[in-house]
Amino acid sequence: MGSIVTIKLRSHHLLCILSYMGMGHTPTFVLNFNAIAQRIREGEDIWIVAGPDDICAPFAPSEGELPRCPCENAAEKDRLAAEAITSLLGRPVTPETPFEFNADILAKMRAGFSSRQIRQACSGCDWETICDAVSLMKYQNALVFFPPPEASSSPPSSTTQPPSDPQQ
Ligand code: SF4
Repeated sequence: MGSIVTIKLRSHHLLCILSYMGMGHTPTFVLNFNAIAQRIREGEDIWIVAGPDDICAPFAPSEGELPRCPCENAAEKDRLAAEAITSLLGRPVTPETPFEFNADILAKMRAGFSSRQIRQACSGCDWETICDAVSLMKYQNALVFFPPPEASSSPPSSTTQPPSDPQQ
């Protein structure tokens, strides 16, 4: 269990984290997501929220305004992801509750992701083929893993161009 609850995530981003490999639509988005991935690797806890979260943070319309998730139907994706992950893990995933990633949970969720058991929320996402590829590669390039190897302190900062729409 991590020590402090600090990382705010909406439910469908629990899926996106599984296959995140340092790709995103803007350099700022990638840098922000890379930092979140590193904090998860280091054991920081997660707090489930409804609505825009720390991954959405770079998409604030302007300074001082709340970010907007660029994902279409984000609330419905959250609902579907929470339902699927709740079923898979046998524990509720709901806003305003903590969530913990560890090696066992990550392995179980990736198995569920690869088998498509928990991918209802991914339907129609422009990044689906990329997440499929990461899954097929057995997540070897994904940035969240346990235990962190020596090299994990310097995650890649690739900013490979995204499809037409944002990833999350
Ligand atoms: S397909 Fe889209 S919603 Fe699903 S994990 Fe990948 S980026 Fe996230």
